[in-house]
Amino acid sequence: MNRRETPGQLELVFTPPELSDDVRAELAAHVVPGWEAMGECRSTGNDAWFPEDADTTGKAAALDRCGFCPVRRSCLAYALSTGEEYGVWGGTTEVQRHVLTWDLSDGTTVPDALDRATLLPELLWRAA
Ligand code: SF4
Repeated sequence: MNRRETPGQLELVFTPPELSDDVRAELAAHVVPGWEAMGECRSTGNDAWFPEDADTTGKAAALDRCGFCPVRRSCLAYALSTGEEYGVWGGTTEVQRHVLTWDLSDGTTVPDALDRATLLPELLWRAA
């Protein structure tokens, strides 16, 4: 049985484990230097990428903008490597990054995790 399907353990999804130093280092290796200056969000205020939990419209708008971002993969790798808790990073929500962190802790490779979130977001990530 999948861990996330076990009744009573949903909390685990929202409290991901610490990633190992090796995984963090591998994630950091996927971050292009200077990515922050190339992001789609560079010309807009930070608030748009830190919507309230109940602001599903704002969250969806931020996720859509990330979909056009040339440094999305770097942004996500950075957020995962540093354990960013809040906001939309690399086209993912907080909950989605928690799921990715669990996957990485369970042995999913860094390239697979980044691919899953950035190349197939419409299949895997739009609902969370
Ligand atoms: S992926 Fe999204 S949050 Fe990250 S730099 Fe691009 S637009 Fe900004």
